[in-house]
Amino acid sequence: MSDCLFCRIVAKEIPNLTVFEDERVLAFHDINPAAPVHILLIPKQHFSSLAEVSNEDQALLGDLQLRAVQIAREVGLEDTGYRLVINTGVDGGQTVNHLHYHLLGGRLMQWPPG
Ligand code: 5GP
Ligand code: ZN
Repeated sequence: MSDCLFCRIVAKEIPNLTVFEDERVLAFHDINPAAPVHILLIPKQHFSSLAEVSNEDQALLGDLQLRAVQIAREVGLEDTGYRLVINTGVDGGQTVNHLHYHLLGGRLMQWPPG
């Protein structure tokens, strides 16, 4: 059994509310939403953070980002807008050490982020 929370979600050892799944990507609702829409997109392959990816992962990263755009459209965020975030490392505020994109929308976001 993996000790990575998101690997355990991929393995279906921990339940999730899935929005999208294919052989490489899983998207599911965040358990503690920070906005009316808060969806996490993760590669099924484990990367501790964005800092762990390499040139070989270009297609996977493109896939994740394009999937976020598609999901944003499907959940009705296209007109009002949204934010796609990858918290990376301690100063980035990353708390789960498996690469993930946050898709946030449904309210006006602040800038700069806290
Ligand atoms: P980070 O702080 O690492 O950028 O984001 C981790 C996110 O994972 C947080 O928004 C947190 O609410 C979410 N999260 C933590 N544990 C779980 C879980 O067990 N299930 C789901 N669906 N989301 C989780
Ligand atoms: Zn993992």
